[in-house]
Amino acid sequence: MSSTLTRVPILDPRPEIDSIWSEVMAAVEDVLRSGQFIMGPNVTGFEKEAAEYLGVKHALGLNSGTDALILGVHALGLKPGDEVISTPFTFFATTECVSHFRATPVFVDIDPETFNFQVDEIEAAITPRTKGIIPVHLFGQPVDMDPLMEVANRHGLWVLEDVAQAFGGDDRGRKLGSIGHAGAFSFFPTKNLGGCGDGGLFVTDDDAVAETVRILRVHGAKKKYHNEQVGVNSRLDAIQAAILRCKLPHIDGWNEARRTAAHRYTDALIGVEGLVTPIEVEFGTHVYHQYTVRILGGRRDEVQRKLDEAGIGTMVYYEKPLHKLPVYAGMDVSMPVSEQCAAEVLSLPIWPKIETAVQDRVVDALKAALA
Ligand SMILES: *Cc1c(COP(=O)(O)O)cnc(C)c1O
Repeated sequence: MSSTLTRVPILDPRPEIDSIWSEVMAAVEDVLRSGQFIMGPNVTGFEKEAAEYLGVKHALGLNSGTDALILGVHALGLKPGDEVISTPFTFFATTECVSHFRATPVFVDIDPETFNFQVDEIEAAITPRTKGIIPVHLFGQPVDMDPLMEVANRHGLWVLEDVAQAFGGDDRGRKLGSIGHAGAFSFFPTKNLGGCGDGGLFVTDDDAVAETVRILRVHGAKKKYHNEQVGVNSRLDAIQAAILRCKLPHIDGWNEARRTAAHRYTDALIGVEGLVTPIEVEFGTHVYHQYTVRILGGRRDEVQRKLDEAGIGTMVYYEKPLHKLPVYAGMDVSMPVSEQCAAEVLSLPIWPKIETAVQDRVVDALKAALA
């Protein structure tokens, strides 16, 4: 495939799978021949391997990252009327889980350089109703977890990390998702560890919380047909677990390749007028789920259109901060930094095996669009 003639997508998930094709095919064939499509050895095997990799006691395969958040806040005890502190600059699922229980998300505005919420502003948002905090390691950039955990512990709040975009990232050597009381991962195909369909993972060191999620994912039944609670049907498919087991041993190499590609962009784009390149926090590892620049001077939409005309796919994550979504109409808050970033951000094509020539084409088109 000639990279100079075809369109550059924002993400090409095929090279990863291509590089382990025969292994994946054999694993899928094994599942098909086994006849065991729900739970079974691939799900428990993946849960064990993921728990070891992440350094957590319990890892539970679920239907999606969204379910990991919903079952997570349920198990952590969220009730109607409670408040949960989070970031407005994220995907809706982050606080959809809170609203699902008729509890209220309370937003803390972001830092324009990391796109993550300002940890030193969390304490001012705490009220007697606050029960927990959901930090999001957005675009693969770690939230500063030490001061966050200090505030949470001092106020008796739980912390559920939204790690959907940061599988394999770390904060001071600890894997993201293993630092709070629990973590929620997504295996949506675009994520750093992506399946070939939906999938998610809930992790925790807390035995009781793990047991609750383990029961909730199978209709609230510890023993089949002896339902004790109102749960849901949310299991990781055996086929997805088998594929994820093939991919997991490669995640560090693939994240490293994303970082190399990101640094190549930054080297080429730093100092270009009208554009701000992403930074990396010094206390952890950014795993570049997205490579997101800011386009200044109100020119983002124009630049995106010009890149599209040049055959370069880009995305705006996120067009509207959560407090501006129709679902939260009536929420009367102002989050000026999130609102400004929503108008400026542009995510460029990135994946572990993106070719240098493709990146050069993106850089040239971006410079031309800004000129
Ligand atoms: C993808 C994503 C989710 C939801 O994961 P699904 O597996 O798609 O349900 C939650 N939070 C964030 C930040 C995400 O990017």
